Amino acid sequence: MPVTDAIIDRLCTACGLCCNGVLFTSVVCSTAAEARRMEALGQPLDRSGGLCSFTQPCRQLRDTRCGIYADRPTRCRRFECELLKRVDRGEVSATAAAGCIDSVRLRSEIVRSLLRGLGDEDESRPLATRCDRVMELPVEKDEEWWDTYATFLLEVRALQSLLKAHFYEATVATLAVDKPDTPVA
Ligand code: SF4
Ligand code: SF4
Repeated sequence: MPVTDAIIDRLCTACGLCCNGVLFTSVVCSTAAEARRMEALGQPLDRSGGLCSFTQPCRQLRDTRCGIYADRPTRCRRFECELLKRVDRGEVSATAAAGCIDSVRLRSEIVRSLLRGLGDEDESRPLATRCDRVMELPVEKDEEWWDTYATFLLEVRALQSLLKAHFYEATVATLAVDKPDTPVA
């Protein structure tokens, strides 16, 4: 049974974590027509590996809301994170879930800010990709960089734990910095 509209209205409209490059790196288009439509909207497509996908952060995201919600791709339409499902099953209150979303959004902003401090300012890429790139940088850095890097690692771990605990399916071992290849949405 799909999660009710009331829960989606309450939580998703203030979240956007499955669209902004925090939970996922890309969204697979289900049909050629869908891919063409996204391309026409200015969404760059990746046609490698026999799939057609668009990278996150999604360009259709307006703050925390989808700008093409009524006409969003099939995968987006079908995706429901674990947090939504738990609220729907009555295991978590909507208020607690909203607090959890706020906290993850805040943590992801901290990681983004640290990434900028470490020299990665490319906000058009998924968070996991950016974290990986920073982790692969040459090691000749000054003490200040290493201090920031130590904080960055702690914050990434904290973010990973929150995502794992609340948003990903328990059966999917997916971490933000492990480049989740499970197509979103
Ligand atoms: S991550 Fe969950 S709560 Fe947030 S927008 Fe996506 S489905 Fe909704
Ligand atoms: S098109 Fe999909 S990924 Fe993009 S903002 Fe809308 S729901 Fe999110």
